[in-house]
Amino acid sequence: MPRAISEGIPMKNHIAYHITPKDLGGHLFAVRLEISQPDPAGQMLALPAWIPGSYMIREFARNIVQIKASCGGKPVALEKISKDCWQAAACKGPLLLEYEVYAWDLSVRAAHLDQSHGFFNGTSVFLRVLGQEDLPHMLEIAKPEQAECKNWRIATSLPEHKARRNGFGSYLAADYDELIDHPVEMGEFALATFKAHGTPHDVVVTGNVPNLDLERLRADLKKICEAQIAFFEPKSRRAPMSVGDGYGGLEHRASTALICKREDLPFKGEAKGSLREGYRNFLGLCSHEYFHTWNVKRIKPAVFVPYDLQNECYTPLLWLFEGFTSYYDDLFLVRTGIISETDYLGMLAKVINGVERGTGRLKQSVAESSFDTWIKYYRQDENSPNAIVSYYTKGSLVAWALDLTIRSKTDGSRTLDDFMRALWQRYGRDFYENKASQRGVFDEEAQELAEEIAGSKLKTFFSRYVHGTEDLPFDKLLAEFGVRYSDQRADHSASLDVVTGREGNDCKLSRVHEGGAAHKAGLSGNDLLMAVDGIRVTPSNLPQLLARYRVGDKVKLHVFRRDELLSFSAILGSDASPAVKLEVLPEGKKTFLKRPAQG
Ligand code: ZN
Repeated sequence: MPRAISEGIPMKNHIAYHITPKDLGGHLFAVRLEISQPDPAGQMLALPAWIPGSYMIREFARNIVQIKASCGGKPVALEKISKDCWQAAACKGPLLLEYEVYAWDLSVRAAHLDQSHGFFNGTSVFLRVLGQEDLPHMLEIAKPEQAECKNWRIATSLPEHKARRNGFGSYLAADYDELIDHPVEMGEFALATFKAHGTPHDVVVTGNVPNLDLERLRADLKKICEAQIAFFEPKSRRAPMSVGDGYGGLEHRASTALICKREDLPFKGEAKGSLREGYRNFLGLCSHEYFHTWNVKRIKPAVFVPYDLQNECYTPLLWLFEGFTSYYDDLFLVRTGIISETDYLGMLAKVINGVERGTGRLKQSVAESSFDTWIKYYRQDENSPNAIVSYYTKGSLVAWALDLTIRSKTDGSRTLDDFMRALWQRYGRDFYENKASQRGVFDEEAQELAEEIAGSKLKTFFSRYVHGTEDLPFDKLLAEFGVRYSDQRADHSASLDVVTGREGNDCKLSRVHEGGAAHKAGLSGNDLLMAVDGIRVTPSNLPQLLARYRVGDKVKLHVFRRDELLSFSAILGSDASPAVKLEVLPEGKKTFLKRPAQG
């Protein structure tokens, strides 16, 4: 009989979990959950259907392999109520649930376990005890018994109860919401620490990364974290960041889980002055997730307070929470001197080019894209550029345009920074400290606050660019700041207007842009393009093949679709890819990159 999980718990009425990596090769975590005072009418339990920050129904309950309930050593009937919900028969308590979770999803969103490490988000492994979410939730993380795990340690921002720093043992969350907001990494990892404005930060890197330059990573992250803490306000908070291997990040209240390619991380012996694109993107990702500590983890859409974890939480505001975060992530790289102003302008131009490439932007506003993210942005397919707009990228352009607009209307005395800090003061500052007064941002409040900061009405701005589908007028907005905007698209070159990828040794049409030559000829996304005028197309030679033609030329195209050879005739169009270039004119002030002096 294992000892009671609740041993040493200071509270009489409690929820206590015990998790152990049980089968490394079979990728199974074993979880025990003890409920001291179950609902006398029969305790309901549910596993979240999604994880906050990643807006898609993922049905984590599908990874629960087997589950049983007992009370005082006797089995208790457990009835499945819906795909992610169970009800235990009435019992006096304590009620014990025992179950296994299959953990083989190497992303920041779920759980992963093998001989090299373990990782989990609480949303994947901890059943929610309905009606008792506000009680303290205790967690005991047990060390795996296998010899290869002898040197494993823990990295998490969960508050320790009896566990030592980075040790196995007990942790204590104030409620269920906190329990699931601190991912846990375990294994043999590289660890670097630093203080930013007095707050200890951990950087944890798992996976085999030869010659990792942890010191450079530590120094760069310290700059970014310090700049962001100073931006809002110094506040004591422990903030570990852990790094895995892919690309992606997920924000949490006191930590973030990140995943990147091995080669994106800095290595020893690399020229210090150089900044590889992969590493720059990774720092941008870190900056993005860190900014979320304020924007979305404390300043939240009203509908996220609290989250409905079993159903979609619809908000039209992700352009503010993801788009504005995307604007500030790279902006902090230039403000901390990690990238140059010239590089930054190049990156902004690239974002404009990306947004203006697809006709989906003319059909869906960023507010609509936010609302429908559950079924559209998070579930993209070959037609997405023709149907949707990204609230990340276009949202970041809305942020930039609003920044320029506020600067223009206030003669440079106010900026978007003032808007963000006002949001923080009103909605985020005491979010976790004062639970009774928690509130989120209502849909219309973002515009109202922007108007207050700008000192003038912004109805047209919001109706055109947030609720409408107009392109942002950067040519006009930037002229005032001495920046020349020009679109140098190569419209003289012949094009099929497709995006290609590779499938085996063939060229796959991953995107066929609406209104382009391929679309008009009848080609479809996912077709394999085999030949242009009888010449074989490879995954990489299409540009060279088309360079021999002129706009208006007729070509014969052969494609495989469902293994059937089809032939089409196309009239080549001009290259529709925008190629915006931004240049600071000699008299340009570049003031839009800087914060005005604070009074
Ligand atoms: Zn984000």
